[in-house]
Amino acid sequence: MHTFEFIRPADSAAAVSIAAQTKTVQQGADVRFLAGGTTLLDLMKLNVETPARLIDINRLPLDKIEVMPDGGLKIGATVRNSDLAHHPTVQRDYTVLSQAILAGASAQLRNMATTAGNLLQRTRCMYFRDTAMPCNKREPGTGCPAIAGSNRTLAVLGTSEHCIATNPSDMNVAMAALEATVHVQGPSGTRAVPIGDFHLLPGSTPQRETVLEPGDLVTHVTLPPPIAGSKQVYLKLRDRASYEFALASAAVVITVAGGTVTRARVALGGVGTKPWRSPEAEAALVGQTADATSFRSATEAALRGARPQSENGFKIELARRCLTHALQTAALS
Ligand SMILES: Cc1cc2nc3c(=O)[nH]c(=O)nc-3n(C[C@H](O)[C@H](O)[C@H](O)COP(=O)(O)OP(=O)(O)OC[C@H]3O[C@@H](n4cnc5c(N)ncnc54)[C@H](O)[C@@H]3O)c2cc1C
Ligand code: SF4
Repeated sequence: MHTFEFIRPADSAAAVSIAAQTKTVQQGADVRFLAGGTTLLDLMKLNVETPARLIDINRLPLDKIEVMPDGGLKIGATVRNSDLAHHPTVQRDYTVLSQAILAGASAQLRNMATTAGNLLQRTRCMYFRDTAMPCNKREPGTGCPAIAGSNRTLAVLGTSEHCIATNPSDMNVAMAALEATVHVQGPSGTRAVPIGDFHLLPGSTPQRETVLEPGDLVTHVTLPPPIAGSKQVYLKLRDRASYEFALASAAVVITVAGGTVTRARVALGGVGTKPWRSPEAEAALVGQTADATSFRSATEAALRGARPQSENGFKIELARRCLTHALQTAALS
């Protein structure tokens, strides 16, 4: 592993000011915040990330979960995934988030992984993690070997001719369905970014994954007040029952009154280049009878724009069935 300077800032302002000296916060950043380290240190051992400076943010006071005056939830950037998943308010009012986090990684990893680190985890595309291979995300302009190569686990939604990598997070899918907001402290102040705008599609710049700029520190995430009477489910389908990333997953938050869907929020995981909220599925659900026919129509709508690669065409039907089953389970709960 290469050498680096390890910094423990006194407060958030100091952390932001040091981080602002980096040229980019995207791939190739020479300054990185260190949270749980379960993504970053892995990639440093592989020489995919080679920051010259690591800013340890674990001692900053960003580790609280608080109910806000409006009834919403404020989740600090360094709250551990396990603490978030097991928090009584999350288990009761934001069940889909608890389920999504517990479907990911392992107990040990969740004890280390943080809210912001999970938001910013990198793709598991095998070419991205292998510096002997070309990869547009790691080295812009070198090409995307996954398109003609091994792409079974990669994306079918939001892809481009430059990159088809999947966003691997489970938590992000639930956050998308819950309409989370990401709060950022940067060199010129604070700002709030809706989660749908936080991650970027690859387009012709797959090395750029989020709207973050040099110096930007994610301080917390907020969730809107819980929706009374909503039914929530996270369903994850994968090659083995635990310790595996999603081939397809679905987060649903729906409200049903008198057998009719009155409100729906739907997001897919494992199939998109970013956490994939589906306004098409939501529009197809609202006002319809909560039954198998309308659920199947919604899943058709969600996957309409999907583009399969040579090995991952199966994901389209898998995602449809995953979402249908998640909706049925939620409606019956
Ligand atoms: C073997 C294995 C299996 C896994 N399985 C799953 C799975 O099934 N599902 C799943 O969802 N995930 C899975 N993961 C990924 C895991 O969830 C992530 O590694 C973890 O959430 C990252 O959090 P962290 O705090 O450790 O991040 P770190 O590694 O500390 O940081 C990740 C990135 O975020 C940046 N960062 C961290 N905090 C901030 C901040 N506050 N502001 C700005 N930038 C910040 C860092 O600089 C870095 O670039 C797995 C990981 C491993 C190693
Ligand atoms: S899919 Fe993206 S991450 Fe994977 S090799 Fe292609 S450019 Fe790199």
